Amino acid sequence: MRRVSKQVLVGGVAMGGGAPVTVQSMLSVPAADVAGNAAQARQLAACGCEVLRVSVPALEDVRLIGAIKAAVAVPLVADIHFDYRIALAALDAGVDKIRINPGNIGGAEKVKQLADACKARGVPIRIGVNGGSLEKPLLEKYGGPTPQALVDSALGHARLLEAQGFEDIVLSVKASRVADMVEAYRLLAAQCGYPLHLGVTEAGTWRAGLVKNAVGIGALLLDGIGDTLRVSLTAAPEKEVRAGFDILRAAGLPAPGPEVISCPTCGRTNIPVAQIAEELERRLAGSPKAIKVAVMGCVVNGIGEGREADIGIAGGMDSAVLFVKGEQVRVLRGNYLEALLDEIERL
Ligand code: SF4
Repeated sequence: MRRVSKQVLVGGVAMGGGAPVTVQSMLSVPAADVAGNAAQARQLAACGCEVLRVSVPALEDVRLIGAIKAAVAVPLVADIHFDYRIALAALDAGVDKIRINPGNIGGAEKVKQLADACKARGVPIRIGVNGGSLEKPLLEKYGGPTPQALVDSALGHARLLEAQGFEDIVLSVKASRVADMVEAYRLLAAQCGYPLHLGVTEAGTWRAGLVKNAVGIGALLLDGIGDTLRVSLTAAPEKEVRAGFDILRAAGLPAPGPEVISCPTCGRTNIPVAQIAEELERRLAGSPKAIKVAVMGCVVNGIGEGREADIGIAGGMDSAVLFVKGEQVRVLRGNYLEALLDEIERL
């Protein structure tokens, strides 16, 4: 059962309140390179990114917002630290969500201006707390960035907005230690009704980072917690988006596009499973078909084990068997991959 949270709208995209969990990523081009940011936004939109975030470090960088919005229709979040004037300018430029921590912007009057401006435009605010940047009093109170310290920080920032009558809030409590991150989100989920943005911070490079994100985000999704997510990786943001959808799919939640499953291979393997499965993933990338495709090494176990797939192949002697929903359809010879792709095309 999914946790019931308040719903906010980011551009046209709903977060929380039972809406599908969305996958976000963040642009990684230097802020001064406006054309480069717009080009990367187009690449991310093309691979299905549902919400885009861009750093806006200085007032002059607000020009990124118009350029990115002109390039893509994906809702855009401006990531702003400390300076509420940048947030106000980003709102004027048409941004769809602001990521800012109201406790860091210099007092109630500035929080009021920010909250009023966001409210007037229907723009939500994400409060993003990280283990590495927790307030000193909380570090002293808890003896370090503990899960409850992260939660107290997030709820403390939220109270500043609530005091201004603003509740279109999304919260995140990211930590680099997966166990801390999972516990923090579980505590937060129990202590508020806001939609939650999931992520592991400083997760690392492609392989190690993916494992940490999958364990942390996956554990929470299986608990029914989480309304949007970003897989943070020291890698191209397209990889973050694909990983996000793979984690959703693995947690049994809807994700766009096809899924390729394949057997681990063994002494019975008759066809080059890894080569076919990898090429298949590459060729199917970007396809809108929500199907499961199996590549199995042998007919002995492959057809039965691949039964949950919509379509697949299993290796035979100098041939492969094409099967649909566990039923053999015909024997393929020659280029199995092209034959399988032709069949998928017909589905
Ligand atoms: S499907 Fe066949 S080849 Fe693949 S692991 Fe199972 S028994 Fe081995």
